[in-house]
Amino acid sequence: MRQEHAAKTREKKLLTLEEARALRTPIDWSTYLPPKPEFLGVRIYAPEKTTITLADLVPFIDWSPFFHAWELRGRYPAIFDDPKIGKQARELFDDAQELLDRIVTNNLLVPRGVHALWPANSVGDDVDVYADEARSEKVATFYFLRQQMQKPPGQANHCLADFISPQSAMGNSQLADYLGGFAVSIHGADELSEEFKYQHDDYNAIITKALADRLAEAFAEYLHMQTRIAWGFGRDEQLSHADLIREKYRGIRPAAGYPACPDHAEKRTLFDLLDAEKNTGIKLTESFAMHPGASVSGLYFSHPDAKYFGVGQIGRDQVVDYATRRREPIAAVEKRLAPNLDYSV
Ligand code: SAM
Repeated sequence: MRQEHAAKTREKKLLTLEEARALRTPIDWSTYLPPKPEFLGVRIYAPEKTTITLADLVPFIDWSPFFHAWELRGRYPAIFDDPKIGKQARELFDDAQELLDRIVTNNLLVPRGVHALWPANSVGDDVDVYADEARSEKVATFYFLRQQMQKPPGQANHCLADFISPQSAMGNSQLADYLGGFAVSIHGADELSEEFKYQHDDYNAIITKALADRLAEAFAEYLHMQTRIAWGFGRDEQLSHADLIREKYRGIRPAAGYPACPDHAEKRTLFDLLDAEKNTGIKLTESFAMHPGASVSGLYFSHPDAKYFGVGQIGRDQVVDYATRRREPIAAVEKRLAPNLDYSV
């Protein structure tokens, strides 16, 4: 018991922000050439702008979370062989396929998305985004948080900014780096679901919403692939469906509100840069929720070492530093990041 308590106390002790920064992700920028995308700025994917259709997204669907919505735990397609839940999973899947076919054939839902690539460099734990390749005009800053937990020797205290080449290392134009962003949405699910409810078909009303969520995630996967192609390194990717779902490609697309970037407020910066409200019809509420619900947004990082991690608990020193960088009252940051604070307010 006492040992357990001691272990917990040890676990809880955080590094100071300064100590954590000294343990940033080790990337040797002197031997690295960041890939240059074939376009800069925004590209819109919507029926009136490109040939994007729901049918394009279907092959990118990750079906496993679909079953989780019905509390059926298992991985697709192995779930069908499960002696306890296999039969129910199969029936549900067949019903969903039938409805999906109707939705796709009759365009009952509408995909709208946008992605962009910007010249960018890191400045400490921030990433500055520039108007153009001259990098003289900064158009936005993404503010990131750094892990402060004590780790075994040799392990880094990650921050997403570590994966973008530092501005201080520039002067050599080869170190010009890029950051990507996206917002995608499937419109019409609430309305279609209401129609089913009106016909007393609650079952299809629920399937509609679950399918819209799946299609939105599939859209994020599809657009990430287009981004890797635009970046060059995705052109000769040969990934199976399973590998794609396991995200076995180069780079990541962290989403604000997830463990590597827990502050939902960063969505505001992203939405402004993408002009996402106009370009996709997604509304961002004051508390940074996206409407319609079947929407996904995030950033793209191209570095091969970029990976997902959890920021975890952070100390007051980082909260003060972060609030100063964002020019916000400390209390506002503490409120949004309450689950990450290692102290009580
Ligand atoms: N195939 C899944 C689906 O269809 O539901 C994809 C969604 S799943 C929530 C994985 C996504 O969550 C990642 O692509 C990334 O956007 C986000 N994510 C996962 N772990 C994260 C982390 N530690 N920090 C930030 N974002 C993370």
